[in-house]
Amino acid sequence: MAMRIGRLGFGWRPKFDAKQRCKSSGGGATTPGWRNDPRSDLPARRGALGEAVFGAFELSGHTVSNLSRAVRLRETRGGARILRLLSLRFALRPELQVEIVSDEEMAIIEAALAAAAARPLLSAAVRGVATLSCTAYSTSGDIEDSAPPPRRSLLSRFRERRAIAVTDITATEWCDKQMEFVLEHGKPERTEAMKAGSDRHAQLEQEVIERVDIAIRSAEESWAVKFMNFIVGTNQLLFNGLTRELPVIGVVEGSWMVGIIDELRMPVDGISFHPILVDTKTRFKATIPSEAQKRNGRLQLMCYKYLWDRLIAEKFPAENFFNYFDLNPDFLLSDDVKRYISSLGFNAQTFGDVLKYYKITCHTLSRSQEQLILRYELQADQSLLEEYQFSYDDQWFKDQIQEALSFWLGAREPKFVTEEELWKCKFCKFASTCPKIASTSSC
Ligand code: SF4
Repeated sequence: MAMRIGRLGFGWRPKFDAKQRCKSSGGGATTPGWRNDPRSDLPARRGALGEAVFGAFELSGHTVSNLSRAVRLRETRGGARILRLLSLRFALRPELQVEIVSDEEMAIIEAALAAAAARPLLSAAVRGVATLSCTAYSTSGDIEDSAPPPRRSLLSRFRERRAIAVTDITATEWCDKQMEFVLEHGKPERTEAMKAGSDRHAQLEQEVIERVDIAIRSAEESWAVKFMNFIVGTNQLLFNGLTRELPVIGVVEGSWMVGIIDELRMPVDGISFHPILVDTKTRFKATIPSEAQKRNGRLQLMCYKYLWDRLIAEKFPAENFFNYFDLNPDFLLSDDVKRYISSLGFNAQTFGDVLKYYKITCHTLSRSQEQLILRYELQADQSLLEEYQFSYDDQWFKDQIQEALSFWLGAREPKFVTEEELWKCKFCKFASTCPKIASTSSC
């Protein structure tokens, strides 16, 4: 049995966690922690009314210059009481003039205000600034001076200073909305079938790898161990013809991405040096996977191929890596980590030394084959249900990644499953709260 030592999956150091910042700010509801964060790009001052009306106008496509017109509209429509109420609640300037505008414009603004009223942030504003916490805004901002707050993307909220995982991409491809639910409410409990799948993967890993724990005391050491595992794993691939659970990292369409390749095999013809990427899925029932499941598996394997091939073909963007993950290349490794590295035949004092070995290793490897393999096994007896080969499709892959990243980067709202794939909802733990189900059942 080949041996790979190291502990994979070390936890990251969370930085600038929004909840923590809020709790630790200690300055009351109107002094949210992010204001003390020098790296925050959120505006320091923001009026509660500004948020409410901005929300309305964002939705209607109007700009802030329409704000005073909106108030005038209400005044014109005999809404003096509403105007006074708004003035009291939001410190709206009372000197705004009255102006008569068309019914059509009135309708647009009323619709936009109604839509904004449905947004939680507006509800918070109406409840008063004392109840605003992490998303609180200063009440002292002038309306015309206010700017809409940049909406924090899921990537910055949930993966700050961390890479997006290949499994994040495949979960997004399965259903954006479900991914959003998972991020905001946590993963649902694992089913027996999921546990059986994990057990099978652990078994496959143990066939070629033995894990031992190593005491790790920093993010640099965690990365150092991952890079060493990659080096040992690729040596195993070259000398034994097979490796499993290989960690990979790279930049995909501008975002850092990490993944763990299920399996790499060298071709048995003894001629080609291009490894084959394989992923094994286990199935509870002896049925052939649906097209949606295969499509998801294809995307996963194409992510791994893209990451592997980039590692080999391109210079590792070390500076970007250090900056993005906030790592110090001169970090002195602990004796435990140095001993581990030394046991593998390498001599490293700093994190940067390990990265040098990693980069050299990448340049000795070959691109992977264009053909990728998805294996489907029956959980009960591990019999092979299907071995499915397909070709890497660069354009399809990039389209899929851009679509997923546009959701993660906040460029679009989450989508629900399509009508053809509504069956996925039957297996979704969030179905009871999903708007898609509510809209479907009311039809
Ligand atoms: S119920 Fe359906 S649409 Fe809603 S999150 Fe779940 S899978 Fe997606």
